[in-house]
This record gives sequence, C-alpha cells and structure tokens, in this order.
Amino acid sequence: MAVVGGASHYDLPPGDELSWRNRRIIAERMRWPAGALEACEEIERTHPGWSPSWHDANIYPGFEAPAGYYALRLERNRGEGPAYGVDAAALTAAIEAVFSRCPTCGLRYPVPPDSDIPLHEAPGTGRRCDVHWSRRTVEAEPGSCVA
Ligand SMILES: [Zn+2]
Repeated sequence: MAVVGGASHYDLPPGDELSWRNRRIIAERMRWPAGALEACEEIERTHPGWSPSWHDANIYPGFEAPAGYYALRLERNRGEGPAYGVDAAALTAAIEAVFSRCPTCGLRYPVPPDSDIPLHEAPGTGRRCDVHWSRRTVEAEPGSCVA
C-alpha cells in the first residue's frame, strides 16, 4: 500500500458512506423515479444489513425482471437472490418476511433458512444456546414468535 504524506490510495470514506454515495450517483444516472432514492435510503436505515436499490425492467431474453425495488442481504448465502417489491412498501414487507430460526432453541433470525447461526442466548434461559456451530437456521412458520 503506497503511503504519501500519511494518506494512502485506500483512504475510503468510513462505514457505509461510499455505498450511499454510489447509490446517489447511480440513481441520478439511471434516472430512478422521483422518491426512489429516498425510499431506498429509508429502507436501509430501518433494515441494516440490506442494500436496497431500484431497477428498471430488464427485458433482455433470459434475464427478464420487472421494474421495482430490489434489496440484497449483505451477508447473503450462496445463490440467495434479492428481495423484491413493486414499490417501497412491498420491498419492506418482503425484507421483513425473510426469517428462520435456530433448530435448537427456536430463536428467530432475520435471515433465510440455511444461514449461519451466531452465538446467542436461548430465550428465557439466561444461558448460551448449545446449538452446534455447524448447524444452520431452519424454516420457521410465518408469523410465529420466539417460543
Ligand atoms: Zn438456539
């Protein structure tokens, strides 16, 4: 890494500033509809770990996709596609519908099934859940709460 005068070529803005700046540039160049940028920024503020954006319809054969709001989970699993909504409210609902649970204690996570399980406390026990590190989250019934 080249260092000149105490700075380096890798001095990037801290945290999420760069991706937020890039999204602003993309929104302007790709002529996002009015309000789409602000809606995506609000969704990202309220749903950390997701990267929302707006896309025009893709009409290329084999890659057809409707226009609308899409969001990728930053720590997505291999092959995990984006959440989609025709409008910002629908995208928010799609993001909030993504969840799974610990196979041992049932704790819910805002990630799809077959995701990594972080260390966690088993609900109501005050102790660390003894789920094996190699286990993955499993399907949870929609609307179910932490048992
Ligand atoms: Zn657990």
